[in-house]
Amino acid sequence: MGTGYVGLVSGTCFAETGNDVLCVDIDPKKVEMLQGGKIPIYEPGLSELVERNAAQERLRFTTDVTAGVEHGEIIFCAVGTPPDKSFKADVSAVRAVSEAFGKYLKGYKILVNKSTVPVGTGALSKSIIEQQLAKRGNPAGDEFDIVSNPEFLREGAAVNDTMKPERIVIGSESERAQELMTQLYKPFLRYNMPVLHTNIESAELIKYASNSFLATKISFINEIAGFCELTGANIVDVARGMGADSRIGRRFLHAGIGYGGSCFPKDIGALINSGKEKGYSFRILEAVEQVNDRQKKEVFEKLLERIPKLEDKTIAVLGLAFKPKTDDMRDAPSIKIIKKLQAEGAKVRVFDPVAMKNAVHYLANTNLTYAKNAYEATENADALLLLTEWDAFRNIDRQRIKSTMVGNLLIDGRNIFDPVEMKSIGFDYISIGRDTSQQNPA
Ligand code: NAD
Repeated sequence: MGTGYVGLVSGTCFAETGNDVLCVDIDPKKVEMLQGGKIPIYEPGLSELVERNAAQERLRFTTDVTAGVEHGEIIFCAVGTPPDKSFKADVSAVRAVSEAFGKYLKGYKILVNKSTVPVGTGALSKSIIEQQLAKRGNPAGDEFDIVSNPEFLREGAAVNDTMKPERIVIGSESERAQELMTQLYKPFLRYNMPVLHTNIESAELIKYASNSFLATKISFINEIAGFCELTGANIVDVARGMGADSRIGRRFLHAGIGYGGSCFPKDIGALINSGKEKGYSFRILEAVEQVNDRQKKEVFEKLLERIPKLEDKTIAVLGLAFKPKTDDMRDAPSIKIIKKLQAEGAKVRVFDPVAMKNAVHYLANTNLTYAKNAYEATENADALLLLTEWDAFRNIDRQRIKSTMVGNLLIDGRNIFDPVEMKSIGFDYISIGRDTSQQNPA
């Protein structure tokens, strides 16, 4: 249930290991595309897998929720849980799936929640299903169990992450459900990764705590980067030195314009909110959010320091997606930054290798041009902002870009270029936590 980034990848990978999978989504356009062999999202390696499994009839798509519940023994809930106005996770789609599950359940089935949901949602699903069963009297004695099986895939590496997960978390108190889940995951276990059996609440919290910890690493290194700018230290060296310590680890220590995307902002917000509901305050996470907001504002402030009046200035933006290798624009830092540029009257010219189609839904068209490549975006620009570290930008012809720009300001929000080299080309180069006299060993 739910054929988005998580549902489509999970369903496809379960089909790849020999299961008969029916993917259900209430979005008829999405289902129609999938039935026609088209993949609605950009995810490396996914289309070949979908094509193969669909051709071998192990993977099908439908909008028919009833058929979805009737199909198979294990029903995954992979619907969206977006933030509501107060940043609380909106679990209405999970409620809808639970209701449908209770309504159409026959025999014994398990409802497995893969969506990221607040602690207590498993219990909520259980009570919704029980209500549905009570409503229809349940003459056949249909039975069910609830499992929490949070998803840890990363967009851009989702197929690999699903086929070779680092851990599998199965939250359930039912031995019967645990056995079914273990059987389903057996083909993925050959890499000796840990399978953790927990209660439902712990499984639900593992997901939020993991994302919160990763976001904390990002805000931590960004805070250190701010101090580097005042002291002459180089954040790339500092992060490298810290990351060599296996207790710290080098990942998620890249200073930049902060985290975004469909998971971190919403999950950190939702956990803070869950805490508030119980009278508990997540002080570290509140600071993590503040630092993250500041990172985006700082890019803009750095731009205003150099170009105080942006009206009618042409600003090129390279990279729109919240990270490379995805077309996902949900909560991408680029959205806030571009909206601010537009509010100041700047003409914005953007290029992203895959996210431009999605970006249209998030950005107003006023003063915004979608370029066909990075060179077109930067031609005659007064300043260039690099917001996503796509590989395609790393070895871009910097000389060519500089020579066709009107201005020379380059704000590198992801620290992908060498400050010394950029300065020698003639850029007024600004990055995060490094000054321009420092070599970039990144
Ligand atoms: P998505 O928006 O891409 O997909 C959700 C899909 O559910 C949509 O296609 C929507 O039409 C469908 N849907 C909504 N209500 C439905 C219903 N009642 N029945 C059937 N389908 C319904 O979302 P996503 O990125 O796949 O995320 C799904 C969940 O997984 C979220 O809770 C998210 O936090 C979590 N998650 C996402 C990622 C990620 O990288 N995207 C990683 C781990 C966990």
